[in-house]
Amino acid sequence: MAQKNPNSILNLTGIGPKKAELFAKLGVDTMDDLLHLYPRDYEDRTRMLPIASLEVGTPACFIASVISTPMTHRIPKPDRRSLEITKLTVADHTGKLNLTFFNSSYSVERLHRGESYVFYGTLVGDYIGYAMTNPLFEPLDSYGKVTRCIVPIYPLTAGLTNNNVASAVKQALGRCSIQETIPEDIRREYGLWDAQTALRQIHQPSDQEALAHATRRLVFEEFYCFSAALSILRSKRSHKSVPPYHTEPQAFYETLPFSLTGAQRRVIEEILADFRSGNAMSRLVQGDVGCGKTMVAAAAAFVAIENHKQVAFMAPTEILAKQHFERLAPLFASLGQRVSLLTGSMKLSEKKRCRDALAAGEIDLLIGTHALLTEATVFSDLGLVIADEQHRFGVAQRAALLSKGEQPHLLIMSATPIPRTLALILYGDLDVSVVDELPPGRQQVDSFLVDERYRKRLNDFIRKQAAEGHQTFIVCPAIEEGETESLKAAELWAQTLQSSVFPNLRVALLHGKMKGAEKDQVMEAFAAGAYDILVSTTVIEVGVDVPNATLMVVENADRFGLSQLHQLRGRIGRGSAKSYCILVSDNHADETRQRLKALCKTTDGFRIAQEDLKLRGPGDFFGSRQHGLPLFRMGSLTQDLGILQEAQEAAAKTISADRPLPPALEKKIRSLLEQESTLN
Ligand code: ADP
Ligand code: MG
Repeated sequence: MAQKNPNSILNLTGIGPKKAELFAKLGVDTMDDLLHLYPRDYEDRTRMLPIASLEVGTPACFIASVISTPMTHRIPKPDRRSLEITKLTVADHTGKLNLTFFNSSYSVERLHRGESYVFYGTLVGDYIGYAMTNPLFEPLDSYGKVTRCIVPIYPLTAGLTNNNVASAVKQALGRCSIQETIPEDIRREYGLWDAQTALRQIHQPSDQEALAHATRRLVFEEFYCFSAALSILRSKRSHKSVPPYHTEPQAFYETLPFSLTGAQRRVIEEILADFRSGNAMSRLVQGDVGCGKTMVAAAAAFVAIENHKQVAFMAPTEILAKQHFERLAPLFASLGQRVSLLTGSMKLSEKKRCRDALAAGEIDLLIGTHALLTEATVFSDLGLVIADEQHRFGVAQRAALLSKGEQPHLLIMSATPIPRTLALILYGDLDVSVVDELPPGRQQVDSFLVDERYRKRLNDFIRKQAAEGHQTFIVCPAIEEGETESLKAAELWAQTLQSSVFPNLRVALLHGKMKGAEKDQVMEAFAAGAYDILVSTTVIEVGVDVPNATLMVVENADRFGLSQLHQLRGRIGRGSAKSYCILVSDNHADETRQRLKALCKTTDGFRIAQEDLKLRGPGDFFGSRQHGLPLFRMGSLTQDLGILQEAQEAAAKTISADRPLPPALEKKIRSLLEQESTLN
């Protein structure tokens, strides 16, 4: 059946609409997709042994000649096809071996007494002796399809066999013209195979060395294309010149009730240098929870506003946006700067009033969620965009911001310390500042790992905190009872605690499925001391500040990533009282306990992040908040660090060389920059 799209897999023999649907489940519609459906594993059938050296249970190849006439017996069965058993003996110079084939008389007919073959199979041994069942075999002069080869094992879906995929790939390799993304000089310099050879060898490796070579090329390519996209973003931004700001934030400093830490001042200086440079800033400020990043951002906002620009301050949640607003509004008001809040849950009329004021230039600093940049929000003169606690402000979003016409400075604040590897990939187009100092007088939070046996003592401890006028966060991994029975679903748990465990304490519930206004109410009431205990899902993970809370209990702690737990822990120890973090987990697996214990021992966010990356990989790194995280099919951000660095260097060279890019590279970059085109 001819297909309109010449690249569709429907053009391949053996693939009709039904099979095509199954392939679609694997994300494969075109031959190109198919060639990038990499094997998830390989079965190495290249090991050759003499018969006497074959090991029980370990598959291997051997060359042997048939020394008996194959004998076939048929065992009739009343209800089904009869069973056919063929027995024969083979031998090499080291020994003999009996082979048994079940129901394969057709293929066994190809075995002839006196001739030699390559066999591949697994030896079994019992008290009678050794034998082998249903080995694969090929004639000596034409092996390589099922014996003495490396067989790719593909990701599959029900109804699709490994053979289906392998044969489709084989056809596609012959028919599809493969576009090269890496220029030849770069390939030569870094010793990389061309795309065609690499793809052929990844699917049909001739040996382990070829497989390693092909893998390296494909990993390199992924990192290279992504890095090239980041380089392009970076160079586009630095070419845009903007009027420099020269104001110093002295007046701002004077309104603060505390003096800034050395680290805060240094980072503000770095931002001011960007402002003075006349180029648009793109800077990431990293720093552990509680290090005071908001004040750094506020100082930057102050300077931009003094230069008659507007500032957009985006928080990931409404709660946080509100908290920022409440903190910053009085501060900026005392400086004569006008601050406003815009969130999705506001009344339409309120939103409209806010937008009108914004467009008229009557608002200097607008605080809100991501909706700030998507909705019909029009700034009269936007000078600075601040994205707080953001991993969701991914590459595509940064690209989208760039294409908005005006060229605002961009400041991204990240509370999750990001290992260098990951930072390069997530933020390779940004300059990085680190706030590596906490404000003075912070309490160290003591952390403990306990199991259910500790429950009674834990409950007593919660009562004791409440008796002393302090508050407790209890975080649960899911909100509805169900998927996993043992999970402490926040909703149910809150009810149980209130009715049977702490009838005399005030228990509140907060979860992600609540409406914005509802959440805010609960959070505000808790912050105001109206509750002793707040049971919640991870919605409190980011930013919310309740200095009176001294205890953080995490139920089913093994379900969280270390960095997530570290973030949660950062919610307490914000006041002057001693604070505690208690991780509850009945998971006694060694690896799990080690992981959680490691968290109890250190408070260094960067070390925790590195550990998390090593243990759980980047996909899990941000818990559920993995937007903006590029996914690599081949490359591993933990194991391929060396290749990543080379690829980055190569991409920078390619982009700065100021010559046309290979069309395939350009296409790839475009799709990377457009991937997450929705701002959410
Ligand atoms: P984060 O870096 O986690 O966003 P915040 O900016 O929310 O931290 O700051 C945490 C708390 O520390 C806030 O209550 C803030 O007012 C306070 N803070 C910030 N800087 C200082 C400082 N230099 N001295 C004392 N307290 C500070
Ligand atoms: Mg913050």
